[in-house]
Amino acid sequence: MRIAAQSKYLTTGREEDLACLRVLSARVGRDPLLVQANNGNTSIKLKGMLWIKASGKWLAQALHEEVLVPVDLREAIESMRSGTEIKPRHRLKNELRPSIETAMHAVLKHRVVIHVHSINTITWAIRQDGPEQMRIRLEGLHWRWIPYAASGIPLAREIQKAVASAPETDVFILGNHGLVVCGRDCHMTEKLLREVERRLAIAPRKFPEPDTTVLEKIARFSRWQFPDIDTLHALGTDAVSQKILKGGVLYPCQAIFLGRTMPLFPPAVVVSKLTRSSKDKVRIPPFVAVERSGVMLNEKMTSAERATLVGLAQVAQRTEGSAQLRYLKRTEVAHVLSNGAHSYKGIVGTEGKANSPAEIDTSDEERRSAY
Ligand SMILES: [Zn+2]
Repeated sequence: MRIAAQSKYLTTGREEDLACLRVLSARVGRDPLLVQANNGNTSIKLKGMLWIKASGKWLAQALHEEVLVPVDLREAIESMRSGTEIKPRHRLKNELRPSIETAMHAVLKHRVVIHVHSINTITWAIRQDGPEQMRIRLEGLHWRWIPYAASGIPLAREIQKAVASAPETDVFILGNHGLVVCGRDCHMTEKLLREVERRLAIAPRKFPEPDTTVLEKIARFSRWQFPDIDTLHALGTDAVSQKILKGGVLYPCQAIFLGRTMPLFPPAVVVSKLTRSSKDKVRIPPFVAVERSGVMLNEKMTSAERATLVGLAQVAQRTEGSAQLRYLKRTEVAHVLSNGAHSYKGIVGTEGKANSPAEIDTSDEERRSAY
């Protein structure tokens, strides 16, 4: 995919549209109930070009640095149709690459597209009965449920199929993933986003207070500290949240930033593990949930891991204990972690031709910055 020189396209008129998208992106990006870390992306189509959030950039920073990158819209659609790799221009210093979700934005006809990892939407999108729940809550809107598909070309193809049978659709609930809304301009699209959010809003469950006596024992180990957000403690003190998270991976970001399994243990086990890890210098997780006690964070935890963990706690606290959930399958998690779902290549052709981990040599950092 060719990336045009940005200054060439920043002319009057377009500049205004881009400015509007930047303001919208920053506002949406600063809301932790919509976007966590570098996930979520926005785009606008302007005279044959698709301006989309760049890979790895944070929407929240849209007013402070360049987070948008232009790509040729026709080329993007053609790359998706032919199943060939969507190639960003060779990366140079400071050069922006389009988000992994570019193909999805490209196939949507609407001028403005907002894709967010909305906490409220995800809470519904992980439920087996999600489509039925949406039927009640989104009545009157032009919405479609998109069953889980890996980010990139597989997801774009599912969206394209849905639009082919219902071109009026401007709200997409992405199973085990998030929300997409589209519209003719920034204002209308954000208005629609707020309306969907209003309809899907869920109050988080109350949870028991953390046990600071236990957590203080962990704080004595170097580099472990109390979280600055109290709601994180629910991961350790709320039995329903624990049951939900023990079940597996609910959505890709969880696996990418926090791993396949929750580090959730009884207090004595945590202390014993930390004692051993300080002696053996083994890799320690960015956080630990202590049963019936709360959560402690490692000072090495990155801001993206922290934002993802806060989001996960919010989803767990909004999910009913009795709800039947759809966890990602082992193969889906493996695909996400092998970067298959996060490369620009995606899946080409039929089953069995998906990229295998051996074919891909991608670092953690690249996988985490694909959005
Ligand atoms: Zn996404």
